Amino acid sequence: MKDLFFDLDHTLWDFEKNSREALAEGYDQINLNSRGVGSIEDYIEEYERANAWCWLEYRDGRMDKAELRGRRFTLALKKWGLEHDAELGESLGSHYVETSPYKTHLVKDALEVVKEFFERGHKLVMLTNGFEEVQHIKVERCGLSPFFKSVLTSDALGVKKPNAGIFKLALELSNSSAENAVMLGDSLESDIIGAREAGWGQVYYNPLKIEHNEEVLFEVSDLISILELPLSK
Ligand SMILES: [Mg+2]
Repeated sequence: MKDLFFDLDHTLWDFEKNSREALAEGYDQINLNSRGVGSIEDYIEEYERANAWCWLEYRDGRMDKAELRGRRFTLALKKWGLEHDAELGESLGSHYVETSPYKTHLVKDALEVVKEFFERGHKLVMLTNGFEEVQHIKVERCGLSPFFKSVLTSDALGVKKPNAGIFKLALELSNSSAENAVMLGDSLESDIIGAREAGWGQVYYNPLKIEHNEEVLFEVSDLISILELPLSK
């Protein structure tokens, strides 16, 4: 029986939906409209672009955690001439980290799939690139914790997917082995290639059916199909 290591953001936790809800609340609460910022939709679009860029910088070690929090907001506000308002960036950053982890929208069938694997007797571990304090709140709040043996974050482990070190540590901490471990996630690079290089099995959740040339063990475009895969041996 395989040990299943799940990614959290965009795989189980509906990151877009939860994040957009939190951003819209921040836009209202901090009254961005009165400061000349465009519509909520424009603001979210700018934020998502800025955030994606900041995360790449963070992932590659060019930006630290503290800087990432406010910087993605000041960068998003550049369009409206507010990029130098560090205080505003900080307020939006704080509102966001205090709000978004408490949002509970899950990807379709996420809970059913996790529950079913748990009932079949699989060992389930969360292996996520994210902040320790944030990821634990998400797992707790959206009702996934009863099914997971542990929640391992890159923040706490000091190494991020796809680095070999995080997969090695995850095996040790979960008392598992590469032959028996399967990584399930939406990031071809971080989850799937990382796991493949570590000698693990992989289930690539690719809801947008993005084309690629990588060799992947299993690939699905919806979570419920994972239940049909041969993971019991
Ligand atoms: Mg993900």
